[in-house]
Amino acid sequence: MKEKSLTIFDFDGTLYPINSYDSEQLLILSAAKERGVLFKKRGKHFIEQDQKGVYDDASFHHRYEKLVKQATSTMIDEVADILLSSIGKREKEALLRLSRISDLGILTCGTENIARAFLQKLGMDDSFSFIRGKRLVRNEEGIFHLLVDIAGPEDKALAVDSLRADYETIIAIGDGPTDIPMLEAADHGMIVAWNRQNRQYPFDTFPSLESAVLHSIDYLESNTRAPRSARR
Ligand SMILES: [Mg+2]
Repeated sequence: MKEKSLTIFDFDGTLYPINSYDSEQLLILSAAKERGVLFKKRGKHFIEQDQKGVYDDASFHHRYEKLVKQATSTMIDEVADILLSSIGKREKEALLRLSRISDLGILTCGTENIARAFLQKLGMDDSFSFIRGKRLVRNEEGIFHLLVDIAGPEDKALAVDSLRADYETIIAIGDGPTDIPMLEAADHGMIVAWNRQNRQYPFDTFPSLESAVLHSIDYLESNTRAPRSARR
């Protein structure tokens, strides 16, 4: 039998606001603290190029894997702490309310390990059914390598399509261009604009995670009340 609903979140820039650096850039900076001058220079250059949008998905993954191969769980936790400093009680309460009426999941082009550490620190890892993105996995020598599940925006849309069989309604919440295919594939797509003023995409746009989550709750509750013929 189909579950009633699923709400899918993007991670970077959606579940937390990006201030200067996203979570993967923060992990590189954290790893660089324990490394020599050359590594620091390489890391800084990579981040600058990444912020200019120079890399495609494959070349990003290749370079990112090299830079974080010696990262540790402590560094991942450190990044999660920085991200969580922008998230408060109100966001958590809204997410908890939503989790009572909807399954929750994360589809990200970012790193699953960081998203998981973030949810653990928020005390909400049990509320999310899945986190799919890129996973850092240790080999026998303790070196991280990268397992890419969601390689890019189109994979997010394919993942939504594959979840169709299990859910009556799928909501997707993102923040930018890499989320558009996922938002289009969902029944209802939303954008969290985190303090940006203008609506940039043709989707309902909210100034905070809390307001987007509260809107999801309203949407799902009114959907439940509406007669079947009135639904999309
Ligand atoms: Mg994002």
